[in-house]
Amino acid sequence: MVKSVLVAVRAESYVYDRPYSYFIPSALTRPVLPGMRVLVPFGRGNRMVQAVVLSVKEDDTSEGKKPIGEVLDEAPLLSERDLKLVLWMRDKYFCTCFEAFRLCMPAGSDIRQEVRYQCGDGDGKPLKEGHVALPILAYVREKGGEVSLAEIERQFGEDLAESSINTLVKKKWLVSREHALLTSRDKTVTYARLAENVAVGRLGKAQAAVVDFLRTNGEGAVKEICYYTGASAATVKTLAVRGVVELFEREVLRLQVPKQGTGGLLPDPTLNDEQAIAVAKLSVAIEEDAPSAALLHGVTGSGKTLVYISLIRHCLRQGKQAIILVPEIALTPQLLQRMYDYFGERVAVMHSGLGTGERYDAWKRVRAGLADVVVGTRSAIFAPLENLDLIIIDEEQESSYKSEQSPRYHARDIAKFRAVQHNALLLLGSATPSVESMHAAQSGKYTYLRMENRYGGVCLPQVTFADMKQELKNGNETHISAELREAIAANLAVGEQSILFLNRRGANRYVVCKNCGYVPQCDACSVAMTYHSANHRLMCHYCSRSIPVYEYCPQCGSGYITREGMGTQRIAEELEALFPGVEIIRMDADTTGGSHTHEALLTRFKEENVPILLGTQMIAKGLDFENVTLVGVIDGDQALNVPDFRAGERAFSQLTQVVGRAGRGQRTGRAVIQTYSPQNPLLLLAAEQDYDRFYEREIALRQTLGYPPFCDLLCFLLTGIENSRVMAAAHLLHRMLAPYCAPTDVLYEPAAAPIFKQNNKYRYQVILKTTETKTLRASVAAVIKAFMADRKTAGITVTAEFNPQS
Ligand code: ADP
Ligand code: ZN
Ligand code: ZN
Repeated sequence: MVKSVLVAVRAESYVYDRPYSYFIPSALTRPVLPGMRVLVPFGRGNRMVQAVVLSVKEDDTSEGKKPIGEVLDEAPLLSERDLKLVLWMRDKYFCTCFEAFRLCMPAGSDIRQEVRYQCGDGDGKPLKEGHVALPILAYVREKGGEVSLAEIERQFGEDLAESSINTLVKKKWLVSREHALLTSRDKTVTYARLAENVAVGRLGKAQAAVVDFLRTNGEGAVKEICYYTGASAATVKTLAVRGVVELFEREVLRLQVPKQGTGGLLPDPTLNDEQAIAVAKLSVAIEEDAPSAALLHGVTGSGKTLVYISLIRHCLRQGKQAIILVPEIALTPQLLQRMYDYFGERVAVMHSGLGTGERYDAWKRVRAGLADVVVGTRSAIFAPLENLDLIIIDEEQESSYKSEQSPRYHARDIAKFRAVQHNALLLLGSATPSVESMHAAQSGKYTYLRMENRYGGVCLPQVTFADMKQELKNGNETHISAELREAIAANLAVGEQSILFLNRRGANRYVVCKNCGYVPQCDACSVAMTYHSANHRLMCHYCSRSIPVYEYCPQCGSGYITREGMGTQRIAEELEALFPGVEIIRMDADTTGGSHTHEALLTRFKEENVPILLGTQMIAKGLDFENVTLVGVIDGDQALNVPDFRAGERAFSQLTQVVGRAGRGQRTGRAVIQTYSPQNPLLLLAAEQDYDRFYEREIALRQTLGYPPFCDLLCFLLTGIENSRVMAAAHLLHRMLAPYCAPTDVLYEPAAAPIFKQNNKYRYQVILKTTETKTLRASVAAVIKAFMADRKTAGITVTAEFNPQS
């Protein structure tokens, strides 16, 4: 009898991804269990490759199988239950098994393989004098008989290293060995500064700009240097190679985890009636020994957080454990402080903003049973709690719960699967539930609970519209309507604060020629470039290329180039002109680099009572400031004009959230939405915060047009360097899919993706609308494999995804 194992091999192309069988040689001392990582010989060269053990069984013979090389873990990283999740993800997300496995694996436990060469005994025939490989052999001997491939390449160059090593290995003067190294590195950012005492010499234009920048600023992140000078990262690197600048790494700022108080835990919160009813009902669901799902629909300010806290308490009292997920932007030190106040040292935080070391520590604590409450963002859904009985997803409609990298999972789907595995309760919370979740609640799949009132009887803000077309007719050429201006002035007069919201990033000014209509586009991405006044350049927001701003139109030569549109910077300038001397905090992706700056700006807004906060998306959610009584939405139309079936849902959710920032304290707030289409039904519904009517309208629309939840959209995205080949591949995929479609399915002709060109790659999509998702899934996996194996698709990448959130 021998023991054999099935493993999932790492870095296998999706085409060949299937379980492989190996046997356990008796020489192995460590036990081999499912969920452990091993090294196995793989492929023609029998290279040692990392793999994860899926199952172990007794076998009659080891014939036809290769032996496992090495066992990398002392204990399984994943339970058998987690392995089931991994296999399910592979099928659902069209990814390799190992990709799915890595999601469940703790950050910082990743293993890198390194090839090293040792001196061998040789084949008895010493190399001739002057042989090109001799210096390498001498080098390895000099270094004590073992050197990594990377180091040899560094010393001798890749080409020479490769050919010489081949010769030396063939003649047995060198022997290769693979090492597995733990890569627990923290996230760092590359900085540059001028080297000391270096004669700079002659510089190109871009190089000179970099040197100038560093002379003025001392040092800077390479990204920042490129932003301000228009130089590329390669230019900075060239300067480093020439010794003009020095590169160094600096650790990324991390989310600060507050210290625990010493005063013991807070008592249970006192709930109002609505909250108490929700907690009572949901507690029953937690106690049940069956999986269930519920939707907690509570207006902004109704106190969902305290409901969550009460439920987690209840869960812990049963000896069970809980996960609470929050959107990226909502995981603040304040929230964590609150969790520590109620749950003390039983809390573990899992969040990508933490260093790898900290994340690994958190994972180990959870795995060891030392934490019962996991608070985190998307990836915390994989927290290895064994006794899981409650999963909460706050603001479940948020797009940050969806991963944009393979495997493109949605935390809500993983949560559903885990809830079933553990007989747990999945609680989705939201002020504006996603249409899909609301539909599930309406059709009885989820328990539906509603909280209609703000805590403490605070009223929802009053919303009015400002018609921007009318403003222009009245001679107001700024982006601040008379109504908003008066409202801000009134707030300033009584010392209350205002938040102004703009749905764009940076100083987004689309440059347009008023004479001929020319709009500069990025050559690489086919999107309009936008003007940034900080560096006085036109920038592409997809690939970060930049060019100096035009004075004259490159198409017609006229001087009527204007910077249309607006960004926070432009609005800030207008506000400064309208309200001289009034302080404004500006918050967007350009002013908030690390998470600390974000925090620091908000703290200052609150504590120093700064009159105006102006920002993009990032100020829309979760902020709770008592003294804010006015919210202004500068461009209410913006979110509506996105080519995506979820645009309406997202616009409604966003406006509701933003408007909900006003009047959280004792005074009723107000909101002014500026728009060019004040009659737009979605805007009107958002203004009234009338979710029910919004939902009715939206669900009818989805049913008529055939969108989720009434069917699934399977989207294939193909990318590649050569336009004609990508297009041909898209047509090939289309032909391969056609035979598998059900009569009710709709297979659309291949089309250019909304962003046709990104980073010099052309993008096409093929969309399949289906109601037969379950049966289709296996055929699709087979089609993708056949497609990738086809020679005509070499160099072309394909991804498949159900109902993507673009
Ligand atoms: P939501 O997440 O539903 O928008 P929050 O949970 O942030 O609302 O609650 C809004 C405000 O009301 C918070 O300041 C919160 O502390 C307060 N609050 C809600 N419920 C209670 C309660 N039962 N006791 C005391 N304060 C409460
Ligand atoms: Zn022109
Ligand atoms: Zn670009």
